[in-house]
Amino acid sequence: MVPFVWSDDCLRHEPEAEVWVGTRTPATEVPARAVAIRGELVAAGAREVAADTHDDAALLAVHDRALVEFLRTAWDEWSAASLPSDRVVPYVFARPELTGGREPAAPAAVWARPGLFAYDTMTLIGPGTWESARAAVDVALTAVDLVSKGEPLAYACTRPPGHHVTRSLYGGSCYLNNTAIAATALLARVGAPVAIVDIDAHHGNGTQELFLGRDDVRTVSVHVDPGAGWFPHFLGFEAESDEGNLNLPLPPGTRDVAWLAAVQRAAEFVTGARALVVALGVDAAAGDPESPLEVTAGGYREAGRILRDLGLPTVVVQEGGYDLATIGPLVVETLRGLSGA
Ligand SMILES: [Zn+2]
Repeated sequence: MVPFVWSDDCLRHEPEAEVWVGTRTPATEVPARAVAIRGELVAAGAREVAADTHDDAALLAVHDRALVEFLRTAWDEWSAASLPSDRVVPYVFARPELTGGREPAAPAAVWARPGLFAYDTMTLIGPGTWESARAAVDVALTAVDLVSKGEPLAYACTRPPGHHVTRSLYGGSCYLNNTAIAATALLARVGAPVAIVDIDAHHGNGTQELFLGRDDVRTVSVHVDPGAGWFPHFLGFEAESDEGNLNLPLPPGTRDVAWLAAVQRAAEFVTGARALVVALGVDAAAGDPESPLEVTAGGYREAGRILRDLGLPTVVVQEGGYDLATIGPLVVETLRGLSGA
């Protein structure tokens, strides 16, 4: 079975809640997700590899230093300010139109600062958030190291997820874009082009925006149609596709046959790449509370097989998946497909 990279620090982020339509609702992006995946991988005979530490070079090749420094310090500053919320949450947003496109002033108030970097209210920061997000980057980069050293396939058990983060904005329960960081690190090792295939139920909007217009990283995302009312709402449409980016939105209720046809198209789009990063969300599965797609465990295994047929060195980065009973088995099935087991 495939090597999988793990860090206990990925469990330290405990958002407990998200603020959704102005209401505090229970978090679904919980540490138990990673624990469930690890348990199933170990039971399946996968080999655990401890994450190595990496400096910030790969991180800063993808994200603005200002975002990284905000995430690093946000909880300490917030907690020192004795605010009524026990998590960092924005209340005002520094949209570019607000300042006519000019750089917004760095706000004096600690409680205004999240509005420079957050694009939603549901992605809360608390004690341990930075440590988990940064550990997830190390997990992803360690998987890149394994593949660079000759492993055909490595799985990064990253948490929190990352594919909704742009160069300078966090959101969608994501803080640092592990997938984009892994792809950028792979690019430096194997040369262009590197491919990212995102099969999370939601559009990989952060990843798309990071690489749009570039020909060295090809991105493709198979996801539920944002036009049907799903996150990230404002993008993820077919019309954003170009030579280097392909969006394959699917209607709610999509089952294996149509989903796998889209995965097949995704694979064809990245044929000729030198290496592959799979942004593996298993929230497209039937029964996942966060999406209306109806993919089976067998479908995920077949998706793995389709991507294996590309014959590329492959790093798998964990994104979404919120049904604690099935998240582990779904990851294992996908890895079985990818490894030809
Ligand atoms: Zn998702």
